[in-house]
Amino acid sequence: MNDLERLAAELREAETAVALTGAGVSAPSGVPTFRGDDGVWERFDEGQFTYGRFRRDPAGFWADRVELHRELFGAAHEPNAAHDALAAMGRDGVLEAIITQNTDGLHGDAADSLSDGDGSTILELHGNARRVRCQDCGRRTDGEEIFERAANGTLPPTCDCGGVYKPDVVLFGEQLPGAVLQRARSLARKSDVFLATGSSLVVEPAASLPRLAASNGATVAVVNLESTPVDDRAAVVRREDVTTVLPRLRTLVDA
Ligand SMILES: [Zn+2]
Repeated sequence: MNDLERLAAELREAETAVALTGAGVSAPSGVPTFRGDDGVWERFDEGQFTYGRFRRDPAGFWADRVELHRELFGAAHEPNAAHDALAAMGRDGVLEAIITQNTDGLHGDAADSLSDGDGSTILELHGNARRVRCQDCGRRTDGEEIFERAANGTLPPTCDCGGVYKPDVVLFGEQLPGAVLQRARSLARKSDVFLATGSSLVVEPAASLPRLAASNGATVAVVNLESTPVDDRAAVVRREDVTTVLPRLRTLVDA
C-alpha cells in the first residue's frame, strides 16, 4: 500500500475528515494569485485595499476595488478537477467540511453542480468576493449588480437602508469572522483526517489549523507544489498539483 492508498483507507474509516484549501486549488481554474512574481499585488497596491481605507474613504476604495475585481474575476472561472473531487467526497459523506482561504466561491459552484446529496459544509474563512454586505443592516446580497453600479460611478454603492456596501471579504486590517473561525478550529480539533491542499500554510489561521488537528491526533496530509512549515507534522506529503492528486485520492476512497 502506498501513502495515498493508506490515506484513502483512513478517509473511509474517519468519523470526521476535513479539507483546507488555498490559492493553489483556484490557480488551475485561472484565478489570479495575490502573492508571488506574477501575483496581483505586483500590479495593484495592496495598501489601497485595507479596512482602514474603506472606513476613511469608501468612494476611493470602491473605485479601486472595481478595478481589482475586474482583474480577479473579469474572466469567468469554472471549478477544476480538484474542486470536483472535493465536492464529490463531500457528497459521498467522506468529507465533513471544506475550509477555504479562497474568496472566489468555486467550492460552492462545484457542490452545486452535483445533483444529489447535501455535500460538505463550506467554510469561507476570508469571505466571498462575489457578495457584498451592508455595513449598517448587515444584509448580504449578490455583488454583480453592486459592482456594476460602482463601475458606473455610484461611489460608494449603498443599500436601501442607506448603509455603505462592503465586498463580503475580510480586508487587510479587518478581523476574521469569529463564528467561522471558531467552527474551523473545532472541526480541525475533532478531525481524524485533515487534508491541507494548495496552501503554503503560512498565513493565519490556515497555518495553525493543521497543527491543531495534528496535536489532537489527526492524520495530516499536505498536497502543495511547494514545501510548507507543516510538512514535518504530516503523515503524507505530496508536492504535486492538486488537480492530479485529489481526483486520484477520490478514486482510491471509492475503490
Ligand atoms: Zn443596509
